[in-house]
Amino acid sequence: MALLVGNVAWSREDAAVRRALSERLGVPAARLRRVEMVRRSLDGRRRPPRWMSTWKVEVDDGLEAEILARRPPGVRRYTERDEARRGRLSLPARRWRGPGRPIVVGAGPAGLFAAWRLAEAGAPVLLLERGDPVEERQRRVRRFLRHGELDPESNLLFGEGGAGTFSDGKIYTRRRDGEVGWILRVLVEHGADPAILEEGWAHIGTDRIREILPRMRAALVGRGAEIRFRAAVADLLVEERRCVGVRLADGEEIAGSPVLVAPGHSARDTWAMLVAAGARAVQRPIRVGVRVEHPQKRIDLARYGRPRGELPAASYRLRSHPPGGRVRAAHTFCMCPGGTVVPATNHPGRVVVNGMSFSRRASWWANSAVVAEVPVSDYDDPADPLAGVRYQDALERAAFAAGGGAFRAPAQRLVDFLDGRVTADLPRVSYPRGVTPADLRAILPEPVAVALAAAFRHFDRRLPGFICEEAVLIAPESRTTSPVRFLRDEAGASPTVAGLHVLGEGAGYAGGIASAALDGLRAAEAILAAPATRPLSGR
Ligand SMILES: Cc1cc2nc3c(=O)[nH]c(=O)nc-3n(C[C@H](O)[C@H](O)[C@H](O)COP(=O)(O)OP(=O)(O)OC[C@H]3O[C@@H](n4cnc5c(N)ncnc54)[C@H](O)[C@@H]3O)c2cc1C
Repeated sequence: MALLVGNVAWSREDAAVRRALSERLGVPAARLRRVEMVRRSLDGRRRPPRWMSTWKVEVDDGLEAEILARRPPGVRRYTERDEARRGRLSLPARRWRGPGRPIVVGAGPAGLFAAWRLAEAGAPVLLLERGDPVEERQRRVRRFLRHGELDPESNLLFGEGGAGTFSDGKIYTRRRDGEVGWILRVLVEHGADPAILEEGWAHIGTDRIREILPRMRAALVGRGAEIRFRAAVADLLVEERRCVGVRLADGEEIAGSPVLVAPGHSARDTWAMLVAAGARAVQRPIRVGVRVEHPQKRIDLARYGRPRGELPAASYRLRSHPPGGRVRAAHTFCMCPGGTVVPATNHPGRVVVNGMSFSRRASWWANSAVVAEVPVSDYDDPADPLAGVRYQDALERAAFAAGGGAFRAPAQRLVDFLDGRVTADLPRVSYPRGVTPADLRAILPEPVAVALAAAFRHFDRRLPGFICEEAVLIAPESRTTSPVRFLRDEAGASPTVAGLHVLGEGAGYAGGIASAALDGLRAAEAILAAPATRPLSGR
């Protein structure tokens, strides 16, 4: 029998933890059998900040009832759900019953986890990825970051691991359930730090993700999957409104079913191909804005009230909701403590920024997206499901032009953005392609610029020092989410093209590594479990 005990000051010393637990439970430490940490997170609101933790405590049956009857604060029975959240859930055993082979398109988190689950069930999965395996992809990315030579097929967004590979590697979601726990466990089994199972704000880091991917690739192949890189799917083979395979960019046709397409938020050609093939899609609102970069030390001081010492690089999460509704809401997103701002584009002639970090989060800078809402009414055509792509694209082209080419990004000191002047002297920033002073109000759509200005003033009240001479805005952050959603029936398939499943962030159902992986896992589960979605016979 076990109890879950929350809100316990964390200590490295086993004896100190046992003492705290025994005080909370009102029983001698000797009567606590086994204790295991379930979760730990830093409470930065306290001065000084403090690590707090949650524990599983095993006690004898009779004692458990006695303790619960006294209702000590933060204590309840430890349940199977708690166990599942820690990655200790076994998914139901499934067997692939299809006659053909399922095809998964895209090796980002959604495609990888869909392929993983299908292969685990014995399906002879074919995984097609337009970019390179991670080792070669790293070389291409290095060339791009150093010399501006962009490979449109293999870059910061495309290639093994998808957009998650050169990312910050934050892997928390709002949900923390058994399936997410299972995903985290798979990552740990392939090299992620086991602490991600316990950390409240788990983070892997791009360096570790790049080590995990080849191990997952080997394990997938070991389970009978075939993986082909540099295999861009240019078309779907559709017969009588059923997807029965794919055509690659070089003209090769491959039969297989079902077809699971997990294209991510930047494969605009793949979206167009899906729509042209008959997959029903609708517009989605997006959020756009800038990356703000501060010296990490400044954020540490603002959050901790002192230099961080042993504590992790401090982060923040801020939101602005101006009353009255005339000025749009804005919020921070994907904050990267100790990270760098990167040129996250796969398209020549476009500048898009995002944030990345290594596992140690040791860079001199802190950056975060600050984005405002863009409703679909801002798009140029209410009837075209891909109108949001044009909205993003126009912004990214304008930013490329303002940057002066070679993927330099337009930038402005935050104080100058608020005062309406172009910055004369930009400080050093982490963005590797270089920045060019620009008037960001002239690049950003007006309601977005107004919302950001209001948000920065609000954030400075919440986090004093947010507005400072050293803070620099780098633009644009235009791909925080997908501007399109592919509709699904109850079984998760396209309602208009049988045997087609569009997954992950590019489908409009996920917004991060963990949620995309979860969407991929669920699509595979639905295919394996539901007789109604059993594979259609391939050609
Ligand atoms: C710089 C950066 C930092 C980020 N940081 C974080 C973070 O810290 N935490 C977090 O949760 N999320 C983060 N994200 C977002 C996260 O990476 C994505 O939400 C997630 O990767 C989406 O997963 P996905 O599988 O849906 O798509 P993707 O990861 O985008 O994968 C799609 C894959 O499909 C392939 N593909 C597309 N079209 C085709 C085709 N026609 N044929 C064959 N292959 C194709 C692409 O090459 C790509 O590899 C970050 C994103 C970026 C760009």
